[in-house]
Amino acid sequence: MITQGQVDRILQLGGNGLPLVSLYVPVAPGPPGRREFTTRVASLLDRIRPLAEDREREHDVRISLRDDIAKIEKSLGAEPVEPGTVAVFSCSGNDVYEEVWLPRNGHERIVVDADPYVRPLLGVLDEYYRTCAVLVDKGTAQVWEYYLDQARELEAIRDRTLRKPNFAAGWAEYGVRNKADELSKKHYRRVVGELKQLFGSGGYDVLVVGGHPHEVPVFLDFLPLDLRNRLVGSFTVDRETATSADIKQKVQELVSAHAHEEQRRLADEILQTKGAGRLGAVGLDETLWAGSLAAVRTLAVDAGSAAPGAVCDQDRLLARSAGACPLCGEPLREVPDVIDELTEAVIDDGGEVRHLDVETELRTPQAGALLRFALPPQPTATK
Ligand SMILES: [Zn+2]
Repeated sequence: MITQGQVDRILQLGGNGLPLVSLYVPVAPGPPGRREFTTRVASLLDRIRPLAEDREREHDVRISLRDDIAKIEKSLGAEPVEPGTVAVFSCSGNDVYEEVWLPRNGHERIVVDADPYVRPLLGVLDEYYRTCAVLVDKGTAQVWEYYLDQARELEAIRDRTLRKPNFAAGWAEYGVRNKADELSKKHYRRVVGELKQLFGSGGYDVLVVGGHPHEVPVFLDFLPLDLRNRLVGSFTVDRETATSADIKQKVQELVSAHAHEEQRRLADEILQTKGAGRLGAVGLDETLWAGSLAAVRTLAVDAGSAAPGAVCDQDRLLARSAGACPLCGEPLREVPDVIDELTEAVIDDGGEVRHLDVETELRTPQAGALLRFALPPQPTATK
């Protein structure tokens, strides 16, 4: 699974005058998909071999490319285990080699350029929330990061508490309790300060808070508005007995409930926008037309559906059925899943893609979009 460290490194790659190879190879589910993978890798690398042999290019450029090809061939030689997409960024002359696995199926692609080709990568990452979770009690706090299936402890905070006051009961008790409250308030304020810093640097999308049932609500009262706006939920847990797997599960449940809510909200926004005669597209036909014109700002598509269709290789028109392209008249090329072509087109055009895991009113298969501009009338489909 891809890590944040890798993403950060990849985004900073490039420069130094040597070309960088970016490679994306999809892995379809099941054994045939895995076998097909090695063939795909070989044919993609064949496309850039001429560059590595081109005498017009500088010697160190050719050497670097040749080493890239050899390294990728070797590293991707075995059949992958999981479906998804393998992405590689390689520039041997600069000692760069990053290989990551992405959880969604993308297009195969090889790009040789001064900069890494990251659009498909960012398109996938757009769908994951970077989550900061804090487990808090009166005197301690553990701050965790959850991202792309991974959990990482960021920091542990421990403050002074009055756990075992060795006072006799009596008039002193009131003072002891006050003192304890004061210390826990101070602790909560410190934890809030740490969280503000983490969110202030732009590192996190959402916040989750966990802890003892009687302490969580008290801590939540300390959250300032900006953090409260990021809070997607809280959970109670017995910190003595809960395992990190238990906690991870609670965090994931809250984040996925939040994701589903956002998906429903996006679908509603698309429907309302379209209903009001503004920049929205609803249903697969209209959304394909919008995608054909690079008009999609935010695309919402069913995560689970595929729909056969056709594309025009001349002008990238996307259609549900084969025939002549209504734009240029050339025959369309049939594709097994035009929704997949649509998402790739939107990512290439710099739009956002959101997959819907929940059922909405965006028809079946679910597709809709917020648009950049009003669509011209759709040409009549030719069959
Ligand atoms: Zn065409």
